[in-house]
Formats: sequence, structure tokens, C-alpha cells
Amino acid sequence: MKTKKFLLPEKEIPTHWYNVVADMQNKPQRLIHPQTKEPLKPEDLYPLFAEELARQEFNETDRWIEIPEEVRDKYKIYRPSPLVRAYGLEKALDTPAHIYFKNESVSPVGSHKLNSALPQVYYNKIDGTTNLTTETGAGQWGTALAFAGKAFGLEIAVYMVKISYEQKPYRRSLMQTWGAQVIASPSMSTKSGRKVLTERPNYQGSLGTAISEAIELAMQTPNCKYALGSVLNHVSLHQTIIGLEAEKQMEMAEEYPDIIIGCFGGGSNFSGISFPFLRHVIKGEKSMRFIAAEPASCPKLTRGKFRYDFGDEAGFTPLIPMYTLGHNFSPANIHAGGLRYHGAGSIVSQLKKENLIEAVAIPQLETFEAGVLFARTEGIIPAPESTHAIAAAIREANRAKEEGKPKVILFNLSGHGLVDMSAYDQYLAGDLKNYEIPEGEIEKNLQEE
Ligand SMILES: *Cc1c(COP(=O)(O)O)cnc(C)c1O
Repeated sequence: MKTKKFLLPEKEIPTHWYNVVADMQNKPQRLIHPQTKEPLKPEDLYPLFAEELARQEFNETDRWIEIPEEVRDKYKIYRPSPLVRAYGLEKALDTPAHIYFKNESVSPVGSHKLNSALPQVYYNKIDGTTNLTTETGAGQWGTALAFAGKAFGLEIAVYMVKISYEQKPYRRSLMQTWGAQVIASPSMSTKSGRKVLTERPNYQGSLGTAISEAIELAMQTPNCKYALGSVLNHVSLHQTIIGLEAEKQMEMAEEYPDIIIGCFGGGSNFSGISFPFLRHVIKGEKSMRFIAAEPASCPKLTRGKFRYDFGDEAGFTPLIPMYTLGHNFSPANIHAGGLRYHGAGSIVSQLKKENLIEAVAIPQLETFEAGVLFARTEGIIPAPESTHAIAAAIREANRAKEEGKPKVILFNLSGHGLVDMSAYDQYLAGDLKNYEIPEGEIEKNLQEE
């Protein structure tokens, strides 16, 4: 009988994360302090982040970074995650390609984000932090931090963009069930929230405002710090557990991927599945393609510019060397909320600049078509974000068929879509559309300060 799922025992949960920066010939350019314009140092981040996380952010030398025992213990709740051969999808596509996916939807929060939320909360705990703040748009990151907070006994406050708070009540329920405080942003609980609310009483909120509120609360509260769910190097580092497990599982399947695919918001799940395999390409031992799948409505890697830009709308964060559409870019309200980010992490940006990775932009309707086909052939209803990776995998499987080549394709299923069914309702009712951005708009946006 053919094997469907490749499962590792708990004792095979990796003991170290992989730090790709140590192996990169050209390191990513340094982050820059927004006021002094000097290169940022780990100490500059201590007021906001746990010290070990700040050190990880700047670590260019240690290839392997040990995963604390306590974190590995919590990983056991859902890790190792399965590697699955998508026989059903292969059959429907009538492709000679072998398609595998790493199923990160099995975590209690339904996505890969818990892989970084757990260590982030842990390192804060050992620093003596008692409270953490964060922001969340669609709600996945807030959900992961809420669960991780409960796992290690920290209090979590999540500023959730008001429109999502009202339109996506179930992610709020999840966070509250795990004991987090969820505040619709803009709120009256911070100076920045009050300013926005008094000037624009009906404002529906934005990630930029939610970030300002979360940072303000963290800065003004003793023993309180802040956490971020993507973009930064330490987040990508934690996510490499995905690719490290997948590498062992591909060995069990006695195959090696030719093409690796991840959907792309700020870059954390794509980095997680890719970097452990990329190390063999950097060393010249293997050749493989790495494809980041982004929304056509938010095409930072395929149509953005490489330059220094802020990580947030409001311009509070350090300047990051990255592919960006401009920090003021306001993406269309597509259902893959986790991919509506204007930029890309500095490591993936550097790798893209050197053509070590590729990117594709996929229109919304193609992603839902892929998601529904996947649900009907493999059973799992994918997150709207993950459908971008599936659509890219389908494109490659179709190309393999045209060329008559039995390519091995591995993609990351970053999450399930069970809390996103209103998006599927709209797709099935024929109410969704594609969004393309005229070139002039990107140019104009990049020129704004
Ligand atoms: C947040 C999220 C993403 C996008 O974030 P990355 O940092 O690019 O991985 C993708 N998929 C799911 C399910 C998410 O929750």
C-alpha cells in the first residue's frame, strides 16, 4: 500500500532552529534606527523585545540555535506535523509530478504562527516579563499569541483592527477562550487610539493604528513587552522547524523536492519551509527552485522596489532593507488577510535580490479555485492565504505535465480555513473578484514619505 502521510515520532522534533544568515555569502543589510539613522544594535530592541529575541534578530554567525526544552515540550502538542502526499490532487490534475505538502494546519490555532508565538512568549517569561501586547489584523497572529500566553502563564493584550473585530468574531472568541484580552483598535485605552478616535470617531481601524497602540501600551507598562508575528528575522528562524522536519520526512518518502513553495505575507512560513533546503543549494550540493506565492493585489516581491522602508504604516519601526510597495500602501480588502502586507523580511528580500528565490503573483479567483479543488481532493479546507501556495503548486504540476517531467513539488499548507468560511461563501456565490494595481499607483506610493 502506498504511504499517504509521513509521520515523525515526538523524539524527532528538531533540537535546533536553522539560521540561514550564517550561511549567506552576502548578509542582509542592517536595520536602521528610525531617528538616529544609525545601524540598529540588539540593545536598541531590548525595551520592546525579550533580550534573546533581540540577539537572534542580529545573529549572523551561529548556524544552529538551540530550541529550549520547555518550548520543545509545548511543540509536542501538535508537532511533528505530518508531511502528506497529495495523491488526490495529483490524480485530479493528471500530472506526472509528485506533490507533497507539509500540514501546518494541525496546530491548535490552525496555522504555523504558533511555531514562533511559543518561543517568543517563553523568552519573555525567562526575562521576567508578565504581560505582552500585540496587534492582529485577520486574527491569526493574535490567536497564536493568546494560546502561547496561556501555555506559559503570561497575560496577553491584543489590539485587533476594529473592522476585523466586528466582521470576524470567531477569531476574537478563540483569543478570549484562551484567556487573552482583545481590544478593538482604535480604542480609548491609549493616547494614539484616543487621538484617532477623537479626530475620526467612525474610523474602522488599520494595522498601523493597532501597532501604535500595542507598542504604546508595552512602552508604558512595567514588565510589559511587545511581540510580532512575521517579517523579523527571529520569526523566520523559529519557523525553520517546518523545513527541518520536512527534510527528514522527504527522506522517509525517498524523494527530494525539485520545487519548494510557500505563500507570502511577510515571509515567515515561506522562510520556514525553504531555508533548511536552501542551505544545500548555498553549499552547492543541490539545485532546487524556491517560489514565494503572493497575491496579485499586494505584489511586493514581483512588482515592489528593493529599498529601506518602515515595517509599519505609521513609521514607528526601524527601517528595513526590503522589497516594498511603500509603507503607505493600502492593499485591496482580499480574503487572504495574512498576505496584505506591504513589504518582505530582510533575509528573503536579500535572497530575492540575488535570485536565489523566485516569486509569483496570483489573482484572488485562481487562489479560491485552487483551494476548492484541494478541499475536494485532499479533504482539508485551506486558509485563503495557503490557497496561494496551492495555486502555485498547481501551476508547476501543470507545467510538469506539459513537459512530461515527474517533478517533485513540496508546498507548505500554512493553515486551514475553517474560520474563514464567509470567504468561501462569497467565492461559491460568485461574488469575488480580482484586483490588479495599475503601475502608476505603485510608483506614486513609493514616492510618498
Ligand atoms: C499569517 C499567515 C500567513 C502569512 O504570513 P507569513 O509570515 O508570510 O507566513 C500565511 N498563512 C497563514 C495561514 C497565516 O495565518
